[in-house]
Amino acid sequence: MTDQTEPEILKHTDFSKLGLDPSVVEAVKTAGYSQPTEIQEHAIPPALAGKDVLGIAQTGTGKTASFVLPMISTLNKGRAKARMPRSLVVAPTRELASQVAQNFETYAANSNLKMSLLIGGVSFADQLAKIDRGVDVLIATPGRLLDHFERGRLLLSGVGILVIDEADRMLDMGFIPDIERIFSLIPPPRQTLFFSATMPSEIERVINQNLSNPVRVEVTRRATVSADIVQLFLTIKPTRRDQAFKEKRALLRRKLAEFDNEISNAIIFCNRKSDVEILRKSMRAHRIGCSALHGDLDQSVRTRVLDDFRKGDIRFLIASDVAARGLDVSNVSHVINFDVPPHSEDYVHRIGRTGRAGRTGKAITICLPADERHMEAIEKLIGHKIDREADEGETKTGSGQKNRQRTANSVQQKDVAASQKEPRKPRGAKARSSREKGSMRWKTMLSEWAITYRNS
Ligand code: AMP
Repeated sequence: MTDQTEPEILKHTDFSKLGLDPSVVEAVKTAGYSQPTEIQEHAIPPALAGKDVLGIAQTGTGKTASFVLPMISTLNKGRAKARMPRSLVVAPTRELASQVAQNFETYAANSNLKMSLLIGGVSFADQLAKIDRGVDVLIATPGRLLDHFERGRLLLSGVGILVIDEADRMLDMGFIPDIERIFSLIPPPRQTLFFSATMPSEIERVINQNLSNPVRVEVTRRATVSADIVQLFLTIKPTRRDQAFKEKRALLRRKLAEFDNEISNAIIFCNRKSDVEILRKSMRAHRIGCSALHGDLDQSVRTRVLDDFRKGDIRFLIASDVAARGLDVSNVSHVINFDVPPHSEDYVHRIGRTGRAGRTGKAITICLPADERHMEAIEKLIGHKIDREADEGETKTGSGQKNRQRTANSVQQKDVAASQKEPRKPRGAKARSSREKGSMRWKTMLSEWAITYRNS
């Protein structure tokens, strides 16, 4: 699996030759695209002909337009009925569903089609009002879709086109039973456009059972990383195993201070949601403004955090892999892997968030000795070695206290995610907790001095 910063464009053909509705071709042009990508060239004609399509392609190939454009062309010929959507796109995460919805809005600019986005964490009322009025395109995550269905507010029998996007991601997230249920609720005749970056056997089984003689379009690429991304493995040998995460946090703070002038913004990836929260709290305790993005947060918070990051109001976004796939933020200067991802494909996805749209980017990965196996797997996947730099700790760089101060002073930022603030505590508790915090900080400093002393 790869993540391309820009999709590969086919120079020899153009959108007007694919059989799309002229209003769609016009909207695509307005969006700035004149030539289709490989997946678009091969998936759009059979999709327009009403055939089932199996697209093996990942984010970054232009796959969203490869199903959205023919859908709009086909749906332009009919009208929506109340509570009976005419087409359904199912995506694994709220962010990906929102992105499909954004694509739809761009490409349907010259159509009168109505769209509704059904994702968790957003009020039912607005979603229901839209569905009641009738929608042509429903874009949903599996859980919220089935929720609406079970409340009897939605009829799926009118769905003529069903799109399943990022099926392998659905498998990772345990959504395959939901997908099978959705298939069973939308009986043939229906057209199915099915997309997956990989083909595990479970996905093949679902395809064999639910698609009818699909046209298979595969866009395979070697796992390449944009040449505009400078990559670095920053290795650290913790003084004690149980201190590893604490020392990684201290190292991160030092690096943020060291690169302060060159970092305009950064996504800092952790492997676990719980570690995202721990790191967010720790950075805030060190007065480094940051926000978190992971699957356990309310949708309203996730949307706001992402918007604010896009706008530049958030400088440091600490994220789990939910943010790595498919998110189209074009100006991230740094990606920092606080943890080495155990799946090397995730490394490519993560660092693909920087160096986009012709810009340069930097990807720094903090590595423990135990990560060696995963580091080698990453190098094997991308086909070249990554420069390594051993962290020398605070003593040898002489940066400890000074950098801590610089970090605190220079990297502060607007705290946008109000709902991510720590809950208010009763007065006594608050006083106690700040005393505790003070003593914690002393303990941290003392232990850091102890490490420094041991190292010197
Ligand atoms: P996707 O794989 O659908 O996530 O698309 C990745 C990026 O490619 C998005 O920013 C799209 O807007 C962009 N894109 C889609 N189609 C084209 C095209 N034909 N030419 C250039 N860029 C495109």
